[in-house]
Amino acid sequence: MKHHRQESENERRDRYRTYSVSILAGFSLVVFLGALVLYSTGNAGELFSGIKGRLEARLPGNGCVGRSDKGTGDGPDTGTGGSGTGGSAIQPGDETGNEAALEPHDKLQTQLDDAELARLRVNELGRVPIIMYHNIQDYEAEWVRSRANFRKDLERFYNLGYSLVLLSDYLDGNIAVPAGRSPLVLTFDDGTRGQFRMIEGDGGLIPDPECAVGILLEFSRTHPEFGHAATFFVNSGNPFGDRSQVEAKFKFLLENGMEIGNHTRSHKNLAYASPEEVAEEIGSLVNEVRAMCGYDTVSLALPYGGYPKSTENLMSGTWNGQEYENKGILLVGAEPAPSPFSKKFNPLAIPRIRGSQEELDKWMGELERYPDTRFVSDGRSDVVTIREADEMSLSPERTGDRTVRTYALSEE
Ligand SMILES: [Zn+2]
Repeated sequence: MKHHRQESENERRDRYRTYSVSILAGFSLVVFLGALVLYSTGNAGELFSGIKGRLEARLPGNGCVGRSDKGTGDGPDTGTGGSGTGGSAIQPGDETGNEAALEPHDKLQTQLDDAELARLRVNELGRVPIIMYHNIQDYEAEWVRSRANFRKDLERFYNLGYSLVLLSDYLDGNIAVPAGRSPLVLTFDDGTRGQFRMIEGDGGLIPDPECAVGILLEFSRTHPEFGHAATFFVNSGNPFGDRSQVEAKFKFLLENGMEIGNHTRSHKNLAYASPEEVAEEIGSLVNEVRAMCGYDTVSLALPYGGYPKSTENLMSGTWNGQEYENKGILLVGAEPAPSPFSKKFNPLAIPRIRGSQEELDKWMGELERYPDTRFVSDGRSDVVTIREADEMSLSPERTGDRTVRTYALSEE
């Protein structure tokens, strides 16, 4: 396993080095394909497009790569462009009929040229704030954010250029926010009533506009660029304070672009738990949500931030004959998280920022003062755009099959 990883990393490094010669490679490809076109007749044309597609998928820097993180990629035209423009940046008007094959969020932005990347200061190796809230009420306290301040927080995030992504998308590196904007993750621990209440509305239960879910949905209605992704870390028993509505609430979240995370069965401090207890605390909550919604939680927020002495059964394990798997373990404190493509990304310890006035002022302020340390999106989830100077910080293992694009940010 380790050996295999090593190999694939070397392989990717090699691929990476080809950036500097991608212009030449792209040019050669055009010449080669041109010759092939002249040479081929009849149904050889199909063969040609197959080869062309595969070659382009291997060539970095030309923006012609299919989404191999999703889908099978076996269609003839899963990528964009495809006109063989070589190593140069894809032209703005280079979106041909292939657009229909893309998933909606890939239409956020066509490939930007270097000048545009520099102007937006795109940096997909920058830090991502993951905010941690507990209760949302009509007053402010240590673990309570007032509704008024929660609304102000959303306004602040929006005005600072952030758009929301699901924690699971951050963990998968699927960052689909508009070009020039930055991803931010909202998390809510403990499944408190103030996070999600439902009231009678037209044709059934609807979120109370005065709970976190209601506030978030209302805000995103007037700020569609911001979105309303959020992850709710729940325990077993009585999440959101009303046993009769648990299933309806879980399903509402999942059907409306939000998600459920694992906060253990009984909110146990895992610092004192045996591996067996860790499996029970994680696995029973996974099994419960799975039985109710057919959905598997993929992240764990540690109650009290208590870290088990052994990581056995933490990322994956079995409980009651059913397997579970976590893609990320979230801590309680206390700084912005690394880019999901950074070598610093550690799925076993993902930091969060507490949603209190003091901590938000501190960290959102720091990201504002040092904007070059912040993740700024290229607008595409299938391309990872980084600055030349940061190449060594990139984790080839984390970028997977996405296209990596580097550009020079000339300092004035
Ligand atoms: Zn908790």
